[in-house]
Order: sequence, then structure tokens, then C-alpha cells
Amino acid sequence: MIPVRGYNKHKVAVLGLGRSGLSAAIALRAGGAIPICWDDNEAARDKAEAEGLIVADLNKDRSWEDVISLIVSPGIPHLYPEPNKIVQKAWEHGVVVDNDIGLFFRSYATRDWDRFDVMPKVVCVTGSNGKSTTTALIAHVLKEAGRKVQVGGNIGRGVLDLEPAQDGEIVVLELSSYQTDLARALAPDIAVFMNLSSDHLDRHGGMGGYFAAKRRLFVEGGPEKSIIGVDEFEGCYLANELRQESPSGDPVIAISSGRKLQGDGWSVFARKGFLAEWRKGRQVGSIDLRDIKGLPGAHNHQNACAAYAVCRSLAMAPKVVETGLQSYPGLPHRCQIVGEKDGVTFVNDSKATNADAAEKALLAFKNIHWIVGGEPKIGGIASLAPLFERVKTAYLVGESADQFADQLGDTVAEKSGTIEAAVKAAVQNAKAGDVVLLAPACASFDQFGSFEERGDAFVSAVNDFIDS
Ligand code: ADP
Repeated sequence: MIPVRGYNKHKVAVLGLGRSGLSAAIALRAGGAIPICWDDNEAARDKAEAEGLIVADLNKDRSWEDVISLIVSPGIPHLYPEPNKIVQKAWEHGVVVDNDIGLFFRSYATRDWDRFDVMPKVVCVTGSNGKSTTTALIAHVLKEAGRKVQVGGNIGRGVLDLEPAQDGEIVVLELSSYQTDLARALAPDIAVFMNLSSDHLDRHGGMGGYFAAKRRLFVEGGPEKSIIGVDEFEGCYLANELRQESPSGDPVIAISSGRKLQGDGWSVFARKGFLAEWRKGRQVGSIDLRDIKGLPGAHNHQNACAAYAVCRSLAMAPKVVETGLQSYPGLPHRCQIVGEKDGVTFVNDSKATNADAAEKALLAFKNIHWIVGGEPKIGGIASLAPLFERVKTAYLVGESADQFADQLGDTVAEKSGTIEAAVKAAVQNAKAGDVVLLAPACASFDQFGSFEERGDAFVSAVNDFIDS
């Protein structure tokens, strides 16, 4: 745990007692503060009380006496669609609103660092898609190269649950827009902006608010190095803005999946399965990504560009980064190859809970036996029609079966009902060179408690077949 500094003997209110809220309260207490905790959920309050924390109803004015800051969990709206009542109370009482990420950046660096040989560094990854994969990929490459690494934020442990810094360590944080929006301190050494597509717009009052929330990571403290995906206008704007602010050196590495970036600056891009690094108009590195099993598809090549750029910013040699990329095992449920038998490859992309995410998986493979369906999203799979030619047979599962059968048109489709039945049918039909792909384009809640449970059911059915 990282004790929170700067609040000794002061009262700090903590709203939301889930994973990050509870660890923030404990870290505040460890730093000498007096956390005053609240959650609308009784079970969460009981858990905090069991930890010996003070619980008080922050809806009541008397709970705010002498409170100097309010720490808010990412799930709680602080502005849109409307501010949480307790956040409004903080404003009324003139109390500063912050979150665990802000506390982390105030507390991570300590006097102990004076005796370190190599200063620790913090790498932050934000964007609409690929954050978790890129965060895990960066951590994997660094670990393979023998560096000390911790991973946290939106993936893995809450930031204040991490261990205090060690000599030469690198902390890799995945940060969502909710987290970057509210943090009062944001001081990464290296920050990555992957991409931008519309998401969470209700929480940010529209696309402008969503971009503004992510942009804070680059303009509040200003990282030494910003790695910016320039495949959307927002990324181009941000890369340009950061370059102008710092004319000396190379403050920006531009990345792209699909565009050649061969200008004067520093860039990393992937085209047709090859990654290239360019600096000052010259190519300085290249990697063949096509056979890296853990990184299938152009979307993963974008993730590889981002991870490569981070590692190069940390002065790692291209060859060392390449070795790390090659052994990346993939994150569970995200286009992950989970088995192979008789030349048939099995891929679990249960995290593809909408058509946009499923599109990336369909683009990553050919000769697909597509297990699709569940609790459908608006529009179903109609937008994927141009990719149906990559599908040999679709196996329909869950509530959406009738709707998707219509939308699939002439594509061969079977109504399998369950994941188990779909895997059984797919292995009967699949030939060497084919791919059996779970990419549901739907939520899982009609048949499962979560996308993870759905992915696990697929993996277990695949393993039954492989072991048979
Ligand atoms: P996030 O943490 O941003 O939600 P994940 O790495 O968990 O991203 O991936 C979520 C989904 O998006 C998966 O279905 C995955 O295959 C897909 N995906 C991964 N990387 C990208 C990318 N760079 N662009 C678009 N989609 C991606």
C-alpha cells in the first residue's frame, strides 16, 4: 500500500467503498489522515466498518465538519448526467473534490528516492479501446527485459494498493476517462493516448467532454513523453498541441495503425502487419508482427505500436522490445488464442460485447466459425455485413438468435442455443486452417453473470474437445 501524504490529522471524506474507495480510505489512514467513509450500499459500509474505518452519512451536514477533501470513486457521476448529491455537498462546504489517482500522484514519490540509483517512472495509458491490452503488453515486455514493474489503476490493483516504489521500478497504470477527469494531480513520466471513439458520453456531457477528460492526462503536469494515436482528429490535435508547447527535443511519439508517418518527428506505425519506427525522416526499427500469436489483427498492432513507443522512450533497444512482444500471451477474453487442435485455432474474444469490438476480431482472422449472440445491443450485427464473407458458418447463441439469423442473410448459420453446443457444432465443421471464434457482439447477461464467465464457458468447452 502507498500511504497518502499531506493530510496528517485532517479529515478526508471518501465516497464509494468499492475496490478503489476502500483502498483509498486505508491508504489515507496509513498516512495519518482521518477518513470519513460513505457508500449508499449497506454491505459496502459494513465492509469498511469491519476494517475499523469511520462510517458517517455524508448526506448530513454535520458529517462535513472539518473535512478538507472528498475522494470520489470512478463509478460516481461528479457532473453529468447530474452530479451526485454528496459531490454537491462538497461544493457547498467548499471542500476540494479529488480521487485516488490524484492522491497517488501526490504520494508516490518520497524522500527515500534520494538513495535510489535509478528514479522510478510512471507510465499511464488512456484511450477508448485497447487500454487493458496495451497496459498488460507494456508490463510484459518490461518484465521480460528484467525490469521491476507494477500494474494498476483500471486494471488489476487500485493505485493506492500498489507497493511503495523500488529503485528503478516502473508503474504502468491504465486510466479511464472517469479517472483522469477528476484527479487533481496527474504527473505521469510517459503518457499514452491510444485512440478515441464515442463512449461514456452521458458521463462527460458529450464527445467534447469525453476528449477533454482524457486530454487532462497530457496537459495538467505534462509528461516527459506523450505517445499519441493520430488515427482520429482529436489525436492529431493533441499531438500538435503538445509539440508546439515544447519545441525542444521530441516530446511526442505519434502512433498509427494504417498510416505511414514518415515526417520529421518521432513515430511508430503499423501497416500490413509490419511495425516501423521513424525518427527525423529515417527508419530506425521494424518488426514483423504477423506471426505474433498474442497480438492478432490491426487493432492489436496499434496496441503493439503504443507499447513499443513506451519501451523506446525508456531507452530499450528495438530487439529487446521485439523479443517481449513475441512472447506476449494475450489477456483473457480479448482476442486470445486459447487452443489449437488438428490445425483449427480457437479464439476467445468474449470481451467483444458490441458490434464495433466484434468487427476487430472478424478483421483479425479468416475462415471463421463465428459463435455470436447473447443480449443484443441496438442495431445488432447489421453493421458487420461487409465482413460476413470471412465467416464460413455462424453459430447463434442466446437471446439474439432470431434477430441475428435475419441479419446474417445468406451467411450459413445454425441456431446452437448455448456456447457448449456451438463449440461442438463448430468442431464438427471446422477444417485445418479454420478459426473458431467467440466474438458475441452482445452483452452476456441473458446466459451468464459476466463476459468473463461466458469466456470461461467457451474455454472449458474448447478444452473438453482438445483433451478428447
Ligand atoms: P479497454 O481496456 O480499452 O476496454 P481492452 O484491451 O480490454 O480495451 O480490449 C477491449 C476490446 O476492444 C476487445 O474486444 C479487444 O479485442 C478490442 N480492442 C483491443 N485493442 C483495440 C484497439 N487498439 N482498437 C480497437 N479495439 C481494440
